[in-house]
Amino acid sequence: MTEALPRPHKLSGLVPAVTFLRTTNLVKSFGSKKVLNGVNLAIAECGTTAIVGPSGSGKTTLLRLIAGFENPDSGSVELNGQAVAGAAWVPAHKREIGYVAQDGALFPHLSVAQNIAFGLDREWGTRGRVATAKRVAELLDMVSLEASMGARRPHEISGGQQQRVALARALARKPKLMLLDEPFSALDAGLRVATRKAVADVLHEAAVTTILVTHDQGEALSFADQVAVMRGGTLAQTGSPFSVYTRPADRDTAEFLGDAV
Ligand code: ADP
Repeated sequence: MTEALPRPHKLSGLVPAVTFLRTTNLVKSFGSKKVLNGVNLAIAECGTTAIVGPSGSGKTTLLRLIAGFENPDSGSVELNGQAVAGAAWVPAHKREIGYVAQDGALFPHLSVAQNIAFGLDREWGTRGRVATAKRVAELLDMVSLEASMGARRPHEISGGQQQRVALARALARKPKLMLLDEPFSALDAGLRVATRKAVADVLHEAAVTTILVTHDQGEALSFADQVAVMRGGTLAQTGSPFSVYTRPADRDTAEFLGDAV
């Protein structure tokens, strides 16, 4: 059962939720393997959705299709009412999307500041070094990292700090949608909770619509206002965290949620 979309956290309760992202009957195969089998997902503007589900159920593939890294075999993706895949094709770099991968995927040979500057638009190249340095400092501040961190290489900072740098890089172009693919899973438990909270605060403050892929049910509960349960390439259930966890749509979903808690 699909419930009403969650209310955007930046808007008052009197304003109806605006759908920011919609996927319709999204299908994707790799060779003979059908990985997505008709995914219908709607996400409210400024909402935070967690996609949970067993390994291999298609979560990352769904994110990659939304990002524009892959083309669907059929179905459509709409961002802000505009078709970006299906009826039309808008390439990844024009979708105003930020993407943070599991390991942050920082460039090891570049400093933290250079990694963040890499995320800036080409336009920034023409503004000169002072303007770029100022913007990088702003982004470091946004993710609560000291300016002096900018000179370090990724291997000289902690895993949690690396993920904050990855977030700063992804925020550089002021994306309207942030896709987070298990961004905290490589961190140890204490760091995971602190980093998750910091990231949630930054995204909330910036009012960025967010999708988080996670296999950690606690993370989904604490991070998201909508949970989508994926199984075998389709969405088995979508709803508020409370409704999904208290009223799972079927036995498989109940077992999956129960196992993982
Ligand atoms: P999840 O994120 O839920 O673990 P994925 O979307 O990563 O699931 O993968 C779903 C299935 O698709 C897996 O069986 C995976 O091996 C397969 N798959 C994903 N990407 C590719 C690819 N580029 N080529 C071939 N198979 C792929």
